[in-house]
Amino acid sequence: MDRNTVSVEKDISCDDFQAQVEDVLIRHKSILDITTKLDEYTSRINRAVIKSVTYCGCIEIHATKQDYNKESLEEIKNNMENHVKGSLCPSCREILEEEIGAYIFYLSALCNTLDINLSEAVLKEYGNMKTLGIFSLK
Ligand SMILES: [Zn+2]
Repeated sequence: MDRNTVSVEKDISCDDFQAQVEDVLIRHKSILDITTKLDEYTSRINRAVIKSVTYCGCIEIHATKQDYNKESLEEIKNNMENHVKGSLCPSCREILEEEIGAYIFYLSALCNTLDINLSEAVLKEYGNMKTLGIFSLK
């Protein structure tokens, strides 16, 4: 089935996604395959970002030293730069979405293998962010 013809609800739950991964994962079931696939897709995501810069050109990276010399964390936060100029074209966006989706597939597979609920991991992280706010210092 063509992935573009599949209609998926935008707010699919992590539980549903994780269950679907459990149903379809066959060939790379070993934790060795899963962890190395996670590495592979991390590289593929980074490669897709860089190709958006060096091959397509829809985004540019203009990196400079970050300025931490401010009075407050709030002021630092508001002055940090992501160093990206421009925005992804539809083609680069589609490629990145595919790579990120594959990464999440193998992340879900890792959770299944180790009996970790992805929703609970997301909720714990969300709780930490809500509790610590900008003091989480990420
Ligand atoms: Zn592009």
